[in-house]
Amino acid sequence: MSLVPARKIGRCFNGAERDRGTIVHLVEEQPVTSCGDWFDKALCGSQPGFRGNGWTKSDKDANCPKCLKKQSKSEVERSVATEAE
Ligand SMILES: [Zn+2]
Repeated sequence: MSLVPARKIGRCFNGAERDRGTIVHLVEEQPVTSCGDWFDKALCGSQPGFRGNGWTKSDKDANCPKCLKKQSKSEVERSVATEAE
């Protein structure tokens, strides 16, 4: 599985969308569809598509705290798999 930074394709329905659109999640990479977007759940469980918009790859690093936490946790779990909690 390879995770890529992606953000929801935002349309400016209201002022709040601008801030929300800057959150970059980690999403499992999928083959690009004809639209160039995809709808998988992000690592944190966030999912686009409420308004028919998918993910778009971001050239920025992921900044969603939940995604980053999950990613580092899974990396830690892999490296200390033999250690009991
Ligand atoms: Zn996220």
